[in-house]
Amino acid sequence: MEAVDARGPYDDENIFAKILRGEIPSTKVYEDEWSYAFEDINPQAPTHVLVIPKGKYRSWVDFTESASAEEIAGFIRAVGAVARELGLEDDGYRLLVNAGKNAHQMVPHLHVHVFAGRPLGPMLA
Ligand code: IMP
Repeated sequence: MEAVDARGPYDDENIFAKILRGEIPSTKVYEDEWSYAFEDINPQAPTHVLVIPKGKYRSWVDFTESASAEEIAGFIRAVGAVARELGLEDDGYRLLVNAGKNAHQMVPHLHVHVFAGRPLGPMLA
């Protein structure tokens, strides 16, 4: 699988679009009006959750330029709600967004990775 270009039109057939439509299964950890969160299929930490907006956005730039203020606020709150509801605040957690090919974005639907459950080490560039 190749990293994606974060620009251009939204691809309705990307795997997270299919997850949102219920066409392929996912393990839900959180859902609200704006957002959906589910377990990563290939976890890189004991807790590895992906939080995605329900709207059709490829990247952080696309999302922050195109979404309404209400939708952006709702999504950011949802990421916080996931951390709180999973009880990650005491030991800590890491948020990560990959955008475009240099960042190795593989799925062209904006997603925030939430990593936790072990010491994560220093941030790697
Ligand atoms: P990216 O490199 O930031 O685009 O991360 C994509 C993430 O999606 C990777 O961590 C994959 O393991 C994860 N992923 C790909 N397909 C699925 C799926 O069907 N369910 C859950 N996670 C997936």
